[in-house]
Amino acid sequence: MNAMTQAYPDTQLLIDGVWRPAAQGGVIPVLDPATGETIGTVAHARREDLDAALAAVEKGFRTWSSLSAYDRSTIMRRAADILRTRKDQIAWIMTREQGKPVAEAKGEIGAGADIIDWFAEEARRTYGQIIPARAPGVMQMAVKLPVGPVAAFTPWNFPINQVVRKLSAALAAGCSIIVKAPEETPASPAELIRAFVEAGVPEGVINLVYGNPAEISEYLIAHPVIRKISFTGSTPVGKQLAALAGQHMKRSTMELGGHAPAIVFDDADLQKAVRVLAGSKFRNAGQVCVSPTRFLIQEGSFEPFLDAVTAAAKGIKVGNGLEDGVQMGPLANERRIPALESLIQDAVERGAEVKTGGRRIGNKGYFFEPTVIANVPKDARLMNEEPFGPVAIVNPFSTLEDAIAEANRLPFGLASYAFTGSTDTAHQLGMRIEAGMTTINHNGLALPELPFGGIKDSGYGSEGGSDAVEPYLITKLVTQSGR
Ligand code: NAD
Repeated sequence: MNAMTQAYPDTQLLIDGVWRPAAQGGVIPVLDPATGETIGTVAHARREDLDAALAAVEKGFRTWSSLSAYDRSTIMRRAADILRTRKDQIAWIMTREQGKPVAEAKGEIGAGADIIDWFAEEARRTYGQIIPARAPGVMQMAVKLPVGPVAAFTPWNFPINQVVRKLSAALAAGCSIIVKAPEETPASPAELIRAFVEAGVPEGVINLVYGNPAEISEYLIAHPVIRKISFTGSTPVGKQLAALAGQHMKRSTMELGGHAPAIVFDDADLQKAVRVLAGSKFRNAGQVCVSPTRFLIQEGSFEPFLDAVTAAAKGIKVGNGLEDGVQMGPLANERRIPALESLIQDAVERGAEVKTGGRRIGNKGYFFEPTVIANVPKDARLMNEEPFGPVAIVNPFSTLEDAIAEANRLPFGLASYAFTGSTDTAHQLGMRIEAGMTTINHNGLALPELPFGGIKDSGYGSEGGSDAVEPYLITKLVTQSGR
């Protein structure tokens, strides 16, 4: 289909293999963040829909967990291929509902297919152990089994990527799943799930719902059918959901907020640092949990770095993500605009200097200027709260110890970035920055085969690499004597 003539689809629930409206017929409007106009609707699941999804996911677990790992893997790889063939069509949908440039949407879908392939391969490698027995004739086996039906809650910044990691890990392990996907960006994750259904995932194995996030999470997490939860979103919500999971003895993976330090030393390749960090900062309008946020620049490089990153921000073409050449789209929802404005205003009142940007663009759609703000005091909210927008903070530091102290000052610990020509400095940073991920002299994060996750208030558990399948498995001991 020609991308320009494509219609934005209304999104239904998927329950027990059937795409259908909510039982009571309720819908939630979906807006185009580039215009603020309503472009479609998504079905609003209520209690009876959730009960149907729970019955389906319980049945789906029996079906899926009894398939061989080999067969599960084959179906998953087929889903990845289907997704690749529909990349252009789904990218258009994603840009309309989320705002990111089409090229970024295509990149996300391609990466999603790679993630499915990687987990499909891991599905065949969930090895257990044979443990030498003390007594003759005894066989002791530690067997890996799927934990049970999963409930996954995903946000709007990467509508496909956030679902595909949880979905692929769960399916690889042999679990069934209820996905509560984002109401703001519902249609592209629905297309991801359609690819799995068409690839042959049996009915009930994947169920998809939307509605009131708090109502749905409270009901599903407490429900005895659900054995594991996975959430991506803000730290305050993650803490609530983790507490609820603990109360009901459910396993959980929490991928929460960050406030990534990006440390640039005088001995670094400055041009490369500017290129990589500006590119990473303004991708997806900064609405990325691993986005570099606190640019900490050693004193000798501070002015040249600030000038170069300011020039890079000024050069970014902002506009509707569907238009050619646009490098940054609107923010995904209107509430990010007052949130960013108040963080910037507070920083300026405390003495920070806006080098470029700092304001909303126009009054139609949710566009915001790529922003560089320098010398932000530590007590400014911006230095402590995740901006989740296109705002780069640039502050100077003096010594390695100062940089590490600032990097570790916050309760967050997700991504961190560093640029240095010294192998010793690189080693120190790699070992001493309190973060789940440190990327040095390049941005090497988020490949399917690499661990992806945070520590401290950024959550726990990994959504990448072989570690990502483990939380969906239990280890069962079977010890067997001859007679
Ligand atoms: P929010 O805290 O209201 O919601 C964040 C996400 O959690 C949304 O997808 C929302 O639907 C979901 N959510 C909220 N309450 C929930 C509940 N009780 N149960 C289940 N899901 C629930 O914030 P927001 O305005 O949507 O986003 C702003 C903040 O969220 C950002 O500042 C950022 O810190 C965080 N966020 C993080 C990520 C990430 O990738 N880690 C993604 C999106 C948002």
